[in-house]
Amino acid sequence: MSSIAIHPAVDSGFRATDAAFTGGTLVCKCASNPVKVRIKGDIAHNHACGCTKCWKPEGAAFSVVAVAPTESVEVLENGNKLAVVDPAALIQRHACKECGVHMYGPVEREHPFQGLSFVHPERFQESGWAKPTFAAFVSSIIESGFDPAKMDAVRAQLKASGLEPYDCLSPGLMDYIATWTAKKSGALAA
Ligand SMILES: [Zn+2]
Ligand SMILES: [Zn+2]
Repeated sequence: MSSIAIHPAVDSGFRATDAAFTGGTLVCKCASNPVKVRIKGDIAHNHACGCTKCWKPEGAAFSVVAVAPTESVEVLENGNKLAVVDPAALIQRHACKECGVHMYGPVEREHPFQGLSFVHPERFQESGWAKPTFAAFVSSIIESGFDPAKMDAVRAQLKASGLEPYDCLSPGLMDYIATWTAKKSGALAA
């Protein structure tokens, strides 16, 4: 039904979110010796992301990415296959060197997202994780070569899938970042 390949987890419709989901194991795409990463507890702020940095499955215009507290992330198996994609980036994306899947991306430097790790819930071997609720950095898919003339159709399709499209993060997250910045500068009382 979808005319544009947003992301397999979006285009196929979501499996119902399970309120009792308590985390699971992320597994990379390697047929042998896959990297396994345990996430304790549910994920938060799950969303589709159009930026050029997030890992996307083959043919998808968007990634699906969420956060979990870094203290809830534990590499279980084959961590020797992980390497940081860009050590200079805010998000230290740990990718499997063989299959390329980003397994977790902690934010370690001082930032509103410090202490959180970005993960791709579609790699959970379990189902029931919180579904994506918005689409971030939608305009950025053009930077990956997407046809600018199809952006109206992309935004319409995202809305039809229940994902409000934004060209940065959602208003809630943008307000969160700005509040952190204002408290740090003293413009707001800490
Ligand atoms: Zn792999
Ligand atoms: Zn992204």
